[in-house]
Parts: sequence; structure tokens; C-alpha cells
Amino acid sequence: MNTINCHTHIFNRDSVPDKFLPVWLKPVANLLQNRKTSKGLSKLLSVFGKKDLAQLIKKFYHFLTIGSLTSQLEIFKLLQSFYPSDTKFCVLSMDMEYMAAGNVSKPFLTQLNELASIKKDPAYKDLIYPFIFAHPERPLISTLVRRYIEEYNFAGIKLYPPLGYYPFDKRLDLVFYYAETNGIPVTTHCARGGIYYQGTITEKRHPITGQEIKQRKNKFLTDVYTDPYNYNYLLHKFPELKINLAHFGGFDEWEKYLKNTIDEDGEKSWFLKIMELIYANENVYSDVSYTLYNKELLPLLKSTLQDPYLKKKVLFGSDFYMVEQEESEREFFVNLKAELGQSDFKVIAEENPNTFLFGKNV
Ligand SMILES: [Zn+2]
Repeated sequence: MNTINCHTHIFNRDSVPDKFLPVWLKPVANLLQNRKTSKGLSKLLSVFGKKDLAQLIKKFYHFLTIGSLTSQLEIFKLLQSFYPSDTKFCVLSMDMEYMAAGNVSKPFLTQLNELASIKKDPAYKDLIYPFIFAHPERPLISTLVRRYIEEYNFAGIKLYPPLGYYPFDKRLDLVFYYAETNGIPVTTHCARGGIYYQGTITEKRHPITGQEIKQRKNKFLTDVYTDPYNYNYLLHKFPELKINLAHFGGFDEWEKYLKNTIDEDGEKSWFLKIMELIYANENVYSDVSYTLYNKELLPLLKSTLQDPYLKKKVLFGSDFYMVEQEESEREFFVNLKAELGQSDFKVIAEENPNTFLFGKNV
């Protein structure tokens, strides 16, 4: 079996804006990143019976340490070490320069050029599949996307709407037109949470539905950009677009779908919204990265895969190394593979990713 992990990141903390963490959290992060301190703290907490907290500190230590490795290649090699040597990885770049969280010490273009040089290396060219991030505010974004795909063999396009834009933003029309015409896969963040735009949002209404936007903290307000239903408008414009709605709505929305007998908030679970989109559009996929760290959700994944149509639309991804905040990469991979069994795992981790990445549109 030739596994393809459809959702990973290898950018390091130089690509993260300097005001990303609140001022009070920075010293805590620095403290946890020190091996001796975090080990000592974990030990102390275990002694006092606080095993959960000790585990949490260990996870954060791993997460922060990976992010502070010096090069993307170093992080990529670490990622490879958890998988069979012929595993392929979609590596999603991130452009965090327009999220109003300060400056980055490594410009986005440097991040892309580093990925391009790994892709060029004969040792990695068949194993790494970089996706170029598309932010509508980056000047000449469509030219940039085209150049990295055509000249540097990037494999796809990455979106992250909670950074402050709707997926149907007109400024990305040329990007989508190009992707649709050339069968280029697009992967977009489709779960609540994660990172988000930190500037002031003044919009009062959704530009298409006209629905009033409740003014809340950005962390929640930015859900208006991420909502799976926004893709109805994008797919109306570009019906042949091949797109992966990453995280399948997120673990909280899977829990909501499973556990809410009574509708608590008047909004359909994003798990259901994504299912509707998959049924209505043959080129829509969804990866289970991050979301499936939660073992309680495995039965729902298994039962989803019993539907022959949906079975062809689910993609394996882990969200390395973001998922380290919950469990290790090896646990994520081993658990999912063992729980699903060889045959179902092969469908979501080899057959479907092959169609998503390399296949022509249905
Ligand atoms: Zn991700």
C-alpha cells in the first residue's frame, strides 16, 4: 500500500507573525519549550496525581519543539519518520501575513521557495506535494499560484477563510478558474477554531445571504467565513472545482451531530452541511485530519464509510504537526489504520487521495 497523507504542515515558527500569541502566553510557551523545565513540570504534576495536565505539557513541548526546528526539510524528515518510506505527503503552506497579528521573520515567498527546493530534490520529489496558499489580499495572487504550480511543480492550492475572507471572494476568481480548468486540487480549512484574523471586522451582513452577522470575539466571528455553506456559492461559480473541505467540519461538529438529540442552537451540524455538499457536488472531498484524534468519533467515521458514495470522498490526513496538541503523529496514523482495517484505510489513504491529487474531474 502506498499511503498519501493529504493534510500536513511543515512551516516553522519563523512563518508565524510575532504578535500571534498574546503577550502573557509568550513566557509560558518559552518555559514549556525548555526540555528540562517541561519534563520537571510533567513529573511534578504526575506525582501529585495530575496526569492529564502532565500529558498536556508533554504534548505542548512536542508541538513547540517541532515548530522551532530550523528548516522545513528538518520538519519534513521528522514527519516521514512516522510512516513507511514510500508515503506521499501534501504539505500545505500558510500565508499569515494578512491576519493582523504582526510581522513574520520569514516572508511567505521564502517559505514557498524552500518548499520548491525540497520538491526539486530527487530524494523527495515523488514524496512531497506542496500546496500554495491563496490569500486574496496578496498582490497578483493568481500569477503567483500559476508560477508555483507550473514552474515549481506545486500540486495544489490551500485556503484558510478564518484568516479574514470568504471562499467565494471575487479576488480569487482567477485562481479558481485556473484550478478548475486544470484539475488542480484545492484544500480549505473547514472547521471552527484554529487560527483566525485578529484585526477589526466591521461587516454587519453576509454578502450573499444578507444575514446579520452577530458581533462577537473574532475567534467566533470568523466562523462566518469558514461556514461550509459558503462553498455553495463558490461551487455555483466553479462547478467542476476539485475541493477538499478539510477536517470534515471539526470534532466539535461531529460531537454535536452525534450527541444533540435536541437542536440547541438552530444551526445544522457542519458534519451534515459537508455531507450535503459532497452529495451535491461530485468533486467535493473531505479529510479527517485532526478531527479523528478523538477516538469516540471512530464509529461515526466507520458508519460514514459504509455509504458507497461517501466512501469515495473521504481523505486521510493528519494535520501534522498541529495535531500534536492532542496526540502524536504516530498514534494518529496507527490508530486510524488499525481501527478502519486494511481495506477501508486503503480507500481513504490511497485510492481517494490519488483521485483527488492526480485524477481528472469526475
Ligand atoms: Zn491544517
